[in-house]
Amino acid sequence: MSKFIFVTGGVVSGLGKGVSAASIGRLLKARGYSIFVQKLDPYLNIDPGTMSPYEHGEVYVTEDGGETDLDLGHYERFIGTDFNRNSNFTSGQIYMSILNNERQGQYKGKTVQIVPHVTKYIEKLIKNASKNSKADFVITEIGGTVGDIESKPFVYALAEFSNKFKESAFFIHVTYVPYLEAAKEFKSKPTQRSIAELRQFGINPNLILLRSNKRPNDEIIKKTSVASLLPLEAIVGLPNSNNVYKVPLILEDHKIAQQILKYFKMKNRRPKLDDWKNFVNLIDIKKEKTIEIAMIGKYVEFPDAYMSIIEALKISAIYAGVDIKFKWIQSSNINKNNIKKKMMDVNGVVILPGFGERGFAGKVIASTYLRKTKIPVLGICYGMQAMTVAQAKVVGIKDAISTENSEIGTPVIDLIRDTNSKKATGGTLRLGKNETTIVKGTLAHKIYNSDLIFERHRHRYEINPEYVQKLETNGFVFSGFNPKTGLAEIIEYNKHPFYIGTQYHPEFTSKPLLDHPLFKAFINAQIKK
Ligand code: GLN
Repeated sequence: MSKFIFVTGGVVSGLGKGVSAASIGRLLKARGYSIFVQKLDPYLNIDPGTMSPYEHGEVYVTEDGGETDLDLGHYERFIGTDFNRNSNFTSGQIYMSILNNERQGQYKGKTVQIVPHVTKYIEKLIKNASKNSKADFVITEIGGTVGDIESKPFVYALAEFSNKFKESAFFIHVTYVPYLEAAKEFKSKPTQRSIAELRQFGINPNLILLRSNKRPNDEIIKKTSVASLLPLEAIVGLPNSNNVYKVPLILEDHKIAQQILKYFKMKNRRPKLDDWKNFVNLIDIKKEKTIEIAMIGKYVEFPDAYMSIIEALKISAIYAGVDIKFKWIQSSNINKNNIKKKMMDVNGVVILPGFGERGFAGKVIASTYLRKTKIPVLGICYGMQAMTVAQAKVVGIKDAISTENSEIGTPVIDLIRDTNSKKATGGTLRLGKNETTIVKGTLAHKIYNSDLIFERHRHRYEINPEYVQKLETNGFVFSGFNPKTGLAEIIEYNKHPFYIGTQYHPEFTSKPLLDHPLFKAFINAQIKK
């Protein structure tokens, strides 16, 4: 059986538990151990797939088509491993399975209760992660913070679990220490309260990460050590960092992996962190050039909605040796009169993914305008569909539409043929990894330097195959197709130095140690210009 590391949060959410869990995964992997990570989210939605990005940020898509929490993106980027849908469960999924079992009489007349049925089910999910992955370590992060009503069954389940497998469970509590400017001191009370919450369940953490805006001083470390009955080295101050990819190295300096391995009586091997360090060193090199990228989308007020795209761009910019600045543009504010001004001085443009009518017309206007410029453009999913509608208008299909937005007009973007649900119901999209064959002699082929690629998808609509021939004229090229279904995957406009759109989401496969070719080419095109 694996060893289990549980990551809980205290005081407030949004402290970067996911980054912490992912960083610890990287440190153990660097020592040659295998890792599986999972996030258990206490909310009731079955998955984040149907949630507004304003609620929950990006929906991260796994290879096998799971619509998961954005922390999965951190796990994959930091650990460099592709996980799967078993890496994310919600209370909604857990209750649904239990209630289905109940309807089928599987509880044989017993009263079905949170304890033991829900808690046992959670335990099973944790054990299954070990059984299926056979990893040396299973890291389980609990969403939200301890003390939330909905997280109680999870914390209870962890307590039950660790009671049974005491030597196999290690608890990390990520909590917050506020710094009061007026009093010039850190306050430990909220953290003490959250440790007390854990203790109610019989859990005392083995390690505490103290998050704060400023570097926690010795005094607050000592206070927390007393409150948690832990030695000083088990209290680690983790102030905000200017780049999340530094976190594994900060934790390495605090000998976190050594502490975990010592607890489990496992061997501490020499970590292989050179490639990670090389990457992090690039971050702090003074850059001579800053590029400004316009990000055109619908949820731009909340950049977490585009987390993986932002990270992919940042990673490629770090490798290219340039700083990057984002200019967020609300697509619903774009019109024919203001587009020129909005695109003034930007070095590149990403037309972002999205759903629904709001802002789609703005994306089409931007797509049309940018054809006449030399500004590098990358369209992702809905962005690519907007570029295709723009081309349709150029070739004379003036009423071109996506049927996602309207019934009236020529359906250049239409519901995927084998999809039977048009409604925005959960789990009905085309999801996950699919292959794309790339047409030789195209920009896409030059970028990927390959005839066959695999990328992840999340969409319900596609380029209507009936219009492919008509659209492919005047420099507009379909440069990638799904070999099985014939679905168009990549478009480009060759009268422009870099104007490319993908039906798939390249951002989900970019990693710090794996600069994605498409983002790399996009950034380089902006430097060359
Ligand atoms: N709304 C579009 C579709 O369903 C695009 C989805 C996306 O951008 N991820 O096809």
